[in-house]
Amino acid sequence: MKQEEFVQRLRDKGYKITPQRRAIIDILLAYDTPPSAKEVLDSIRGRFPDISLDTVYRNLNLLADLGVVNLINLRGKETSRFEIGECHHHHLVCLQCGRSLCVDFCVMEERELAAAREQEFEVVGHAFEIYGYCKNCRKAG
Ligand SMILES: [Zn+2]
Ligand SMILES: [Zn+2]
Ligand SMILES: [Zn+2]
Repeated sequence: MKQEEFVQRLRDKGYKITPQRRAIIDILLAYDTPPSAKEVLDSIRGRFPDISLDTVYRNLNLLADLGVVNLINLRGKETSRFEIGECHHHHLVCLQCGRSLCVDFCVMEERELAAAREQEFEVVGHAFEIYGYCKNCRKAG
C-alpha cells in the first residue's frame, strides 16, 4: 500500500491529516524492519524538531487502532515496534535482540469469538505473539 492509501484511510475515519501524521506514515514505510517509537521520533526530528515522544506514541497508537499499523512486541512500551500494513498477521519476537518475524497465520477463529459474543462483548481486535530466540541470537549462544 502506498502512502496516499493510508492517508485516505485516516480521512475515511474522520481523522485530520496533520503534517506530522503524514511524516510518521512516510517514516514507517521507509523502514525495512518495523521501528520502535523512539526510532520514529529520531527520524521525524529532522522535520519537526519540537515533536515529543508522547505525540509520536499517540499517533502510532491511533494508526494501530485504525488497523493501519500492527503493534509488535506487547511486553513493554519501550520495546514495542510498529509495522505499517493492512494485512492481519502475527509475529515471532526474539527475547534477545527484539527482532520480529512475521508469521502468516492467525490463531483466532470465528467460533472462538462466540464466547465473547455471549458476554455481549464487541470484539474490535486481538493480539497474539510468540516469544523465543532468533537464529542469530541462538548462534551467538
Ligand atoms: Zn534475536
Ligand atoms: Zn509482520
Ligand atoms: Zn490474529
